[in-house]
Amino acid sequence: MPAFLTLRPAARSRLVFVCDHASNLVPPELRDLGLPPEELARHIGWDIGAAGVTAVLSEWFDAPAILCNTSRLVVDCNRQLDAHDLVPEVSDGTLIPGNQHLSAAEKQDRVERWFHPYHQAVEDVLLEREAAGVATTLVSVHSMTPSLAGAPRPWQISLSSYRDRSLVDPLLAALRRPGDVVVGDNQPYALDPAIDYSTPFHALRRGLPHLQVEFRQDEIAGAEGQRAWALRFARAL
Ligand SMILES: [Zn+2]
Repeated sequence: MPAFLTLRPAARSRLVFVCDHASNLVPPELRDLGLPPEELARHIGWDIGAAGVTAVLSEWFDAPAILCNTSRLVVDCNRQLDAHDLVPEVSDGTLIPGNQHLSAAEKQDRVERWFHPYHQAVEDVLLEREAAGVATTLVSVHSMTPSLAGAPRPWQISLSSYRDRSLVDPLLAALRRPGDVVVGDNQPYALDPAIDYSTPFHALRRGLPHLQVEFRQDEIAGAEGQRAWALRFARAL
């Protein structure tokens, strides 16, 4: 089972897309982490719809995209390596049987087999572009559950940012201009270098322009919604 999938690695768009929570696959030896299929299918297993949106964006812009190919419950590729929920024991009220009482060596094994190869694949694309003198804007694609712990989320799409708002502010304005959708600005999540891994490691560390976007999962559960929202985002971008 590959740790990642790369689309259009040599494409020369300014944009490079990454999708940390694209997949809910669990390596066979981990036996679904002891979870029934309906638990792996919900938002705790992956960012529902995000892979489809990323694929449309990669095609639309003719841009590279790197997608993680394992569930965030195996190892969360958007968490710092010392995070308590790097390998979550509980997620949104669901106990993860296969993640209970893991030794440091067992966690490290997941990091080596699934976390590092995915991030190395992102590195490989970025380093090749640096060497070729190609400018990069990194776009991290996520999706969010429509409600968490009983709190509904009105935002259909949301941008998460840290200090640099040079791309965020005009993109928020463009997304809001039609006036028909609710757009979040650091709601429900801000970009936090103490929690997030991908954007801080690949973009902030290099000083690359970057964006982090969340699509609400009920809007992008099917292929039609994925395409419509990807194109709405692409036009605004
Ligand atoms: Zn995510």
